[in-house]
This record gives sequence, C-alpha cells and structure tokens, in this order.
Amino acid sequence: MNLLLSAPKGHDFAEYLFALPFNLYGKAKKVDGNLCVTESEILVYIDGEIKDRYPLDAYEEYACEQLVGCSMMVGRNGDRDAKCICAFTNDSFVAFAEVCKIINHYLTAGILVHESDIDEPKCPKCGLPLDGYTECPYCASKIKTFSKLFGRLKPYAPQFAVAVGCTVLAEILNVVSPYINRILIDDYVRPQNTSHWLGFAALCGAMFVILIINTFLDWANMKASRYVSLNLGQDLRQDVFNKTLDLSMSSISKKTAGDLINRVSNDANKLQSFLTDYGKDAIVRVFSLLVVLVIMFSMNYKLALLAVVPIPFVLIIVKKVYNTIHMYYGRVWRFSNAHSKLLHDALNGIRVIKTCGTEEAEIEKYRVASEKWAKSATKAEIVWNLIWPVADFMLTIGNYLVLYFGSLMLLGRLGAFGTLTLGELTQFVSYVGMLYTPLRWLMQLPRQLADASVSASKVFEILEEHTDVRDDADCVDLDIKGDIEFNNVYFGYNIYNPVLKDVSCKIEKGKMYGIVGHSGAGKSTMINLILRLYDVTQGSVTIDGVDIRKISQKSLRSQVGVVLQETYLFEGTVLENITYAKPDATFEEVVEAAKIAHAHEFVTKLPDGYNTRVGNKGHTLSGGERQRIAIARAILHDPKIIILDEATASLDTETERQIQEGLNELCKGRTTIAIAHRLSTLSNADSLIVLDKGRLAETGTHDQLMRQKGVYYALVMAQRKTTKMKAVQPQQQSAASHPAPAPAN
Ligand code: ADP
Repeated sequence: MNLLLSAPKGHDFAEYLFALPFNLYGKAKKVDGNLCVTESEILVYIDGEIKDRYPLDAYEEYACEQLVGCSMMVGRNGDRDAKCICAFTNDSFVAFAEVCKIINHYLTAGILVHESDIDEPKCPKCGLPLDGYTECPYCASKIKTFSKLFGRLKPYAPQFAVAVGCTVLAEILNVVSPYINRILIDDYVRPQNTSHWLGFAALCGAMFVILIINTFLDWANMKASRYVSLNLGQDLRQDVFNKTLDLSMSSISKKTAGDLINRVSNDANKLQSFLTDYGKDAIVRVFSLLVVLVIMFSMNYKLALLAVVPIPFVLIIVKKVYNTIHMYYGRVWRFSNAHSKLLHDALNGIRVIKTCGTEEAEIEKYRVASEKWAKSATKAEIVWNLIWPVADFMLTIGNYLVLYFGSLMLLGRLGAFGTLTLGELTQFVSYVGMLYTPLRWLMQLPRQLADASVSASKVFEILEEHTDVRDDADCVDLDIKGDIEFNNVYFGYNIYNPVLKDVSCKIEKGKMYGIVGHSGAGKSTMINLILRLYDVTQGSVTIDGVDIRKISQKSLRSQVGVVLQETYLFEGTVLENITYAKPDATFEEVVEAAKIAHAHEFVTKLPDGYNTRVGNKGHTLSGGERQRIAIARAILHDPKIIILDEATASLDTETERQIQEGLNELCKGRTTIAIAHRLSTLSNADSLIVLDKGRLAETGTHDQLMRQKGVYYALVMAQRKTTKMKAVQPQQQSAASHPAPAPAN
C-alpha cells in the first residue's frame, strides 16, 4: 500500500516515512492537510505549514475511528484521554488505519516498519502484480538468468561437449559436401568426363562416407543430448522440490500449491528441453554461421555481400520481435497461471463447491479464465504468424539475388562481377542455404528465449529464496526432556500486526497444558512457534533452557508429535501412513501402536487390513478413523512433546470418548499441549494457559481459574450457556414434531 501519497507543499517525500493527505480539520472544516510521520514524531501540516506536532510516544495507542460520513485518527492514553490528530473522508480510512498499526507496533515492539505489505506488491518496471515473486519474472535480467541456467550444465560438461562436438563435426562435413559436389559437376558431369571414372567413384564414395559419418555423429549427439537433458531435468526438479520443502511456512503460504507444482514440473521441464535443444544449437548455429560466411567471402565476396544484404534487416526484426513477442507471451503465461490456480482451487475445494451447489458459478469462472488464456495465446500466435513470413520473405530475397547475379556471372554477362562455373554456383547456393538455416533458427529464438527466461526466473526465484527459518551453524541436536518456556514473545505473521504480544509462560515436562482463548486469540500461533514453523519477532521460546533457534529443526521436530483437527493421509496403505514418521518400524510395533490408539479394531475390519490403500486425503476413512491413525502415527513416533491442536473437535461425543482413551495413552509421561474448543476436555489438564487477544491473560488449573472469575470463567460460562441452549432446542423441536395427542372428548 502506498503510504507516501503526498508530501506537504514545499516539502519532499524523502523527509518522511509516511505522508498521507487529509481533507478535514476541526469542526469538519475542509482543509488541504498532510499527516507526515518521521522516525520520531507525527507532523500535521495544513497548507504546507506545521499546525501540530506529536512525538510518536505522546500516546500509548493510535487508532482510526469511523464517524458518520468521515473518519479520524486519534491518539489515546487509556480510555479517557483521546485526541483527534486529523480527520478525513472515509476513502482514506484503510491507509490511515495502516499507519496507526505501524506506529502502534513501533510503540509496543520498538520496531519501526518502513513499508506496508498489505497491498499486493507490484513490479516497479512493468507495474504488474508480483504474484508472490520477489522479482518480476518478466523483467528480471535475462543475461543473469541465462548465465545461471547455463551454469547448471557444469556437472554434465563432458557429455554436453560430446553433443556439441558431434554437431560441430556434422556441420563441418555439411560444408565439405557442396565442395565435393562442385568438383563432381565441374570436373566430371559438365565436361562429361568418363575417362577418369576412378576419381568420379572416389568422390561418390567420399559423399557416401560423409553420409555414414553424419549418421553416426547424429546418433552420438542424440545419445549425449538425451543424457544431459534427462539428468539436468531431474536435477532441476529435485532441487526445486528440496528447496520448496526447505522454505518456511511464511513463504510457502504466499504461494499457491498450483504455482509450486507448475514450477517443479512444467517450468523445470521447459528449461530441460530449452538447455539441451536450444542451448546446444545456439553454439553450433553461431559456429556454422561464421564458418559459412568465411567460406562464402573467400569464394566470392561480391556475391557473398549480396547474400548478406537481408541480415541487418532480419536482425532488426529479431530485436523488435523479441520485445513484442515477450510482451504477448507474458500475457499468455499470466493467464495460464491464473487458469491453473483456479483449477487447483476448484479441485481442492470440490466438496465445498458441491455442498454449496456453486458448480455453475465455478464452471463460468473456469470458462472465463480458460477463454482469456486461449485468446491471449491466439493473439500471440497471430502476431508471430504475421512477423515470421515477412522475415522469411526477406531472407528469400537474398537467395534470389544470389541466384540471379550468380546465373548472370555463369553466363558471362556481368563483367565487373567476374565469372562462375556451374559447380561454383551450385556450391555457393548450397552455402547460402546453410547461411539462412541458422538465421531462420535465430528468428525462432525470441519466442523460445522469452518462454525459457520466464520459466528460469520462476525456478531460480525458488532456488535462491532466502529461507527465513534456518538452522544456524552452531545449532545442536538436543535430547529433549520437555520443559518449554515462552519469554516475552512477540510474533506477527505481518511484522506490524502482532498476534502474540509479550507472552511469557512455562510449560513443565511430563505435564499436560491446555491453551484456551477466543477464536483468533493466538493459540495455534503458539503451537506454530513451538514447532518453529515461524521464528518469533521478539523474545524467545526455549526447550530445556535452549533457545529453539539453536536446536536443529530435524532434532526438534523428530521429538515433537502433532495430532491436528484434520489428519492428512498420504496416498498409500494404512501401514505406510502409520509408519510415516518411523519408516523402519516393525509390523509388531505398528500393531501395538494401533491397539493403543484404538485403531487396530477397525483397521483389521478393512478389506485388506493394514494393507488397505487409503485414497487422497483418506476419503475412504471416517474422521474418527483418520484421527486414530494419526494417534497411532504419533505413538509410533514416540515424541517427548505432544501437541493436540483441536484433535477431537470435528468428532461426535462418542467417537471423541473412544479417541480420548487413545490420546490419554499417547500423552502418558510426555509434555502435552492441547488446544480444544470444548473446554470440558481440558478440565483435567495440569494447567491452563489463557490467551486474550494475543496476550497471556491468566494461568492456573481449571478450579483456580473458575474461582478467579476472569477470562477463562467467562469462556466456560458462555460455553455452558450454548450447550444448554443446544440441549433445550432439540427437546422443543421433538415436542413440535410430536404434538401431544388431542384430549379425548
Ligand atoms: P486461534 O488458534 O487462537 O484461533 P490463530 O493462532 O490461528 O488463532 O490466529 C491468530 C491470528 O493470526 C488470527 O487473527 C489469524 O487471522 C491470524 N493468522 C493465523 N495464521 C495466519 C497466517 N498464516 N497469516 C496471517 N495471519 C494469520
């Protein structure tokens, strides 16, 4: 979001962090005002003159208040002391609210954010949205991108050299053929010289040998190229996949699954074929262009000049085509990306679509996206098909000029140009053909280059992305006992919008803790921090006294088990899903874990028992069954810390009761942290951590907190009220559906 919309008259943007115009002051008087924020104060300008100035810490909190028809920014100290800083029409509300958030974050966390990322960032060059990329793939430096791309050929340099060498040799032999042809025509065919049949046969034999060598070179080239291509593609895909799994949750969540799938498969494949086909060809084509030019000029520089007349024009066209085609293909890629995102979204949310009955709306959305993609592709093709014949025609003119003037020389009608034999003309015309082949290829290059450069930018963006949750060089593999501590933790998914504020609490090993609070209070966020899916903004989280940023992620996560509300089952058998975190577990261990999790009974009733395949997302199993598999998985994993994030929230009371037994077994002797919507399930926890709007409100046992009558008490009371209402409603409904029999007269 642009928070530097306008500086006051006579002043410069550079003086301020943020500068927003406002148009109301005092009693809704229209003014030409600017609110400017520096690192230390807020300045209120009216008509370019400073009207008020406030040190940033003059107020504890800044906020925007919406009134009737207008809004105002206020500074507050507690509930009573509030001051209007400036007022504006409602269209500026979001921008001012953003500035308030940033200043508030500065006041609480001491970090002054200089940029707002609420709006989707745009490319400064082309102005198009960055779509989660850090650099616009359409505007990234092509030279840098391609040099990185060719750098990936290094491990396959010998094979690549063989492929290039074979193609170069084949090109050289191709250059020799017209020369032999010329001797054949001039020395044997034209004079009808039959006396030296041995020489004739030798030349024909040489042509045949060249053909055989060429076939062999072609085979060797194909073999080496395929080797490079397949391995390079596999490396690229593997590297992109590895890096994707290595990225932090915050960067993953900015990208869609569809986009990541595209980068791992489509983009990597495109680069694979581009590098081996076009990369190798580029070297060979340029080489053959130079060789043929040298031969042509040494044969007859005047005719050679005629042949190269169209080249500068073709080069100009190539340059122009590149820019135009790049723009058109840029659009095609954008629409194809939008199309695949939509497709992915629809397929992922197919249950919601069906249950909401929005199939038609989705079909229409898909039709529009698909049509846009098709239309943009058609336009790009039309432009290409218009340009290509013109450029090709220009090349044909060169061919025509050589043939025309060459024939005149053959007939001796062009004294100044000299004469030519038929063999020489045939040889020259063959070389002209050889000169134009790389040029024609060069004209196709813009299309391929534009395509590959976008794919390369996308792939390298992932490969080079800075992973913000990383293992430090001095991190350790810790044998976790299970003491966890939050020390003055501040954390926000957006740095200026803290979700957890100054949270400090201790979780002792071997005990069970419940985290409770309203929805959005930051419960799952605390869990995310323990799992180090994100790093704290300020403060620290320690395990056994060691900052978790100093514990290797592998060692941390291998000792923390998680059962979530929705269990994801991988495509495979029940056995594979249970052993997911411990692939070397024996079958006996699996059965034992399944028995403890109360899963064994239903698994043995499945058609193939433990070998039953569970489909995508385990559609064939019920929610309760999936949860039991997740518990068995966690038991087998044998973690020191167990996290239950709404593990039984989506289950009915009976299933919950059954699963609870499994969970109790799982939690025995381990540090357990549970989040549960139904507070009754946490009443036997050793301690409860109560969050309120991101702050730690209270801690204690259920009984202590109930006596305290604070936030937890209010939550429990509210829930009891809802439960009672729910219990009464069905009774009323059943009374309504079964009316009392009419009294007999
Ligand atoms: P709870 O578990 O208490 O319901 P969460 O910890 O999930 O709450 O979320 C706390 C706040 O953080 C909510 O306002 C939520 O919208 C926000 N939030 C959660 N996850 C993300 C995310 N990945 N990106 C941005 N905001 C998030």
